[in-house]
Amino acid sequence: MIKIEHLSKNFGTLNVLRDISVEIGEGEVVSIIGPSGTGKSTFLRCINLLDQPSGGSIRIRGVDILAPRTDIAKIRQKMNMVFQSFNLFSHLSVLENLTLAPVKLLGKSPEEARTKGLQLLKLVGLAEKYAFCPDELSGGQKQRVAIARCLAMEPEIILFDEPTSALDPTMISEVLSVIRRLARQGLTMLIVTHEMDFARDVSSRVLYMDEGVIYEQGRPREIFDSPKREKTRAFIRKQQSSFHHISSAVFDLYALNAEIEGFCSRLAVGLKSRQNLLLLVEEVLQLSIGSPSSFPLDLTVNYEEKTDMLELLCETPPGTMNPLQLEGEQAGIGLRIVTNILEKHEFQQSAEKNRLVLYLKKQ
Ligand code: ADP
Ligand code: MG
Repeated sequence: MIKIEHLSKNFGTLNVLRDISVEIGEGEVVSIIGPSGTGKSTFLRCINLLDQPSGGSIRIRGVDILAPRTDIAKIRQKMNMVFQSFNLFSHLSVLENLTLAPVKLLGKSPEEARTKGLQLLKLVGLAEKYAFCPDELSGGQKQRVAIARCLAMEPEIILFDEPTSALDPTMISEVLSVIRRLARQGLTMLIVTHEMDFARDVSSRVLYMDEGVIYEQGRPREIFDSPKREKTRAFIRKQQSSFHHISSAVFDLYALNAEIEGFCSRLAVGLKSRQNLLLLVEEVLQLSIGSPSSFPLDLTVNYEEKTDMLELLCETPPGTMNPLQLEGEQAGIGLRIVTNILEKHEFQQSAEKNRLVLYLKKQ
C-alpha cells in the first residue's frame, strides 16, 4: 500500500532522515518508536507531504506522490493524520468539526456529513457531546473528537503522531482504546508512540528509529523482548525505568506523582502495585525531608517485566542516614506504611553516594 524508497529529508545542513526504505501492507498497523529528535514526526510529515522530502520516492498503491502534478489535497484525504495537539477548531461545535471538511472537500451534502459525523462520534463514545464546544471537553475527549474528524474524511491510511503524549495519564487509555478498535477494523495505520505496551499489543510490526534511520524492525515481540541491535536494546531497557532528580526538599510532589503514574500506565503496571509505589515514593520522600542533607536525591523506578517486580532506587549524598532507620513518632507511622508494602530493602553506603533499594511486594 505504501512503498518508500531511499527517503531523505534535510533541514538546511541537518540530515533528519537518511535513506529510509520500507513497505507497509494494506491493513498493517505499524508502530514507530525511538528517542525524541530522531525524525519520527518528520517521517510521518513527509509521507503526508506536510514536509517536502529532499530525496527518494513514496508510492501509495503504486502512485508516485512526489511527482510534480500530484493532487496533494487528495493524498492528504486518503492519508489523514492525527496530531499530538488535537488541532480542533475551537469556534465550531464538536459535530461541526466533523462535518466541515467532508462538505467542503469531499462534496458531501450537509445532512449526509451530519449523519456520518454522528455515527463517528458514537464510535468514539462521544455521541452525546455533539453540540459541545471543544473547550468544554477533557483532553482525552478532544483527542477522540480529533480521531473521529480524521475518520470523517474516510481515509485509507491514518498517521498518528504521539496521539497520547499531551494527555494526563488518566486519559491515555480512553484514546488508546479507540485506536485499538480502529486497528481491529483493518485500517492501515502508522503510529508514533511512547506507549510501549500499547505498541506491543496493537501493532503487527514495530519500527525502531534512531538518528534518521530505521535502525531495527520486527514483530513486537522481537523488538520488545529480544531486540538484536545495541541501540534498540538500550532504548527498550530505558523504557523500563523512570528517573527523577530532586534537587531540594522543596519540590512538586504532584508533578512527580503524575510522571510516575504515566510511567506505570505505559508499562501497564497493575493498579494496586501502582498505588503502593506512589505511597512508597511519598513516604520515602517524607522521611528524607526530615534530614535536608538527603538532597539532592535521585529517584529511579525500575520495572522488571519478566518478574513483574517494581524496584525503587533512592540515591542520596554520602553520609546521609538510611531513612528507614530514622526514629521518632512521625517516622514511626511512615515506616509502618513502608514496611507493609516492601518485599525487602537494601541500604548501601559508599564514598560517592548512598543507595537505598526498595523492592515492592508483588501484588
Ligand atoms: P521526533 O519526532 O523523533 O522527536 P522530529 O522529526 O520532530 O523528531 O525532529 C527531528 C529533528 O529535525 C530534530 O532535530 C528537529 O529539531 C529537526 N526539525 C524538525 N522539524 C524541523 C523544521 N521544520 N526545521 C528545522 N528543523 C526541524
Ligand atoms: Mg515527534
